[in-house]
Amino acid sequence: MSDCIFCKIVAGDLPSKKVYEDDQILAFHDIQPASPIHVLIIPKKHIASLAEAGDEDWVLIGHIQGAAAQIARELEVEQSGYRVVTNIGANAGQIVHHLHYHLMAGARLSPLGV
Ligand code: 5GP
Ligand code: ZN
Repeated sequence: MSDCIFCKIVAGDLPSKKVYEDDQILAFHDIQPASPIHVLIIPKKHIASLAEAGDEDWVLIGHIQGAAAQIARELEVEQSGYRVVTNIGANAGQIVHHLHYHLMAGARLSPLGV
């Protein structure tokens, strides 16, 4: 997807502060952190959102969840707690239409809701 900012980050055409990378996924710090630790974890493959994921993507998405737990361990927020969340569509406030999981930590997070 040539007009997708996260595809550009994957391609190295836009800079990012990387936290983790392997052949399938990339994790980097959010440019506008909403918590003291705010990391985005994305598949290198362009998938618009969880709603657009196909049966062939579930292993990849499971891998993202596993990486989130590992990154939280490495950032030493496992004990204090953290949140992993993905926004889908307008009501959830999805702005970037390339699947991404927010890993948020470092402070008491506000409850989920409206
Ligand atoms: P969404 O609302 O789509 O779930 O979240 C998109 C997130 O991507 C936001 O938290 C926003 O700050 C972050 N973001 C948008 N553009 C960039 C960028 O170019 N680089 C990085 N590192 N984060 C970005
Ligand atoms: Zn993309």
